[in-house]
Amino acid sequence: MADKRDYYEVLGVSKNASDAELKKAYRVVAKKYHPDTNPGDKEAEEKFKEAAEAYAVLSDPEKRQKYDQFGHAAFDPNQGGAGFGGFDFADMSDIFGDIFGDMFGGGTKQRQSNGPVKGANIKTTVRVSFEEAVFGTQTEIELPLKDECPVCKGTGSQPGHQPETCVKCGGKGQVVFTQQSLFGMARTVQTCPDCQGSGKVIRYKCSNCAGSGYVKSKKRIQLAVPAGIDNGQSIRIRDKGEPGINGGGRGDLLVTILVDRHPTFQRQEYDLYSSEPITFTQAALGGRVTLTTIDGPYEYDIKPGTQTNTKIKLKGKGVPTLRNKSVRGDHYVTLIVQVPDSLTDEQKSILNQYEQASAVNTRSSTDSAGGFSFGDHKKKKGFKKL
Ligand SMILES: [Zn+2]
Ligand SMILES: [Zn+2]
Repeated sequence: MADKRDYYEVLGVSKNASDAELKKAYRVVAKKYHPDTNPGDKEAEEKFKEAAEAYAVLSDPEKRQKYDQFGHAAFDPNQGGAGFGGFDFADMSDIFGDIFGDMFGGGTKQRQSNGPVKGANIKTTVRVSFEEAVFGTQTEIELPLKDECPVCKGTGSQPGHQPETCVKCGGKGQVVFTQQSLFGMARTVQTCPDCQGSGKVIRYKCSNCAGSGYVKSKKRIQLAVPAGIDNGQSIRIRDKGEPGINGGGRGDLLVTILVDRHPTFQRQEYDLYSSEPITFTQAALGGRVTLTTIDGPYEYDIKPGTQTNTKIKLKGKGVPTLRNKSVRGDHYVTLIVQVPDSLTDEQKSILNQYEQASAVNTRSSTDSAGGFSFGDHKKKKGFKKL
């Protein structure tokens, strides 16, 4: 705790920053160091957590006041503070929605000896197709879940025996070491090595669970994947994590969704992008073309004289939004004019006629303009190569 950075410094704001300024600064820092944008970067992950912690404190008026008065000591359990375990990261998830998944779900909560402790969260991944992510799907996950051992009822002791109070820590679960250091006597509190913090020692272990108090079995869990979910986003299923300790509730199951790529569509947020080939006669004459959309074939009338790389916006043909699946993003189609790489004799003859007709047109228009532009010349030369 000694080398902790100042929370205001972490977020890059002044001491009298308003709530809105804090929120804005936090968004910037969190976005920059978000694990999704910095995969495998430990330093970024630390910075991200640091920013989350700073924001958790400064966004709460009561905690901010304490922090302003006492600094980090206000939350340091070794100095009589509340400990960081008192913060509820879950409250912050609304800032970025589900994208942040477990980042605020826990893990930083301090374990209190002997008190009820919520079970750990379990993480898993599920792969879905591009279309399933767009329109949502129902799927099933099978994974081993721990349950209380039915033989010992979770005590870990053989029936007829009880766990005994740990002698080393006297049932407190923690031991205090006092050491002589350069700066005087130093006191450190550690989890009891004999009972691992439970305060109890099992002498006669239950044979069904080997003294753990839990048995694992495969469970099938129904998972509703909502329409609009994107690659890397997580779904939280409450109470399907590890069982709690000393009467604490179960943790949650966090399922990260991995979305397959699509051969035709690219996705950005709720918008879709694709390209569609059109023939050069369609481009020149205009007319009805069939575009491929996520909903299926879509008839579209293009204008005569459509150039290659023309972008069409199909409003509401994108991905349904997570909040309301009847509200959808848009689909942008880029039209690519195809030049045929081989022609039949008949096609050649028709195109030659076309060329002659254009040449007459061009000559009469350039003659009247009183010159022959270099651009026109080049264009014609290119066309003759066909
Ligand atoms: Zn047992
Ligand atoms: Zn102990």
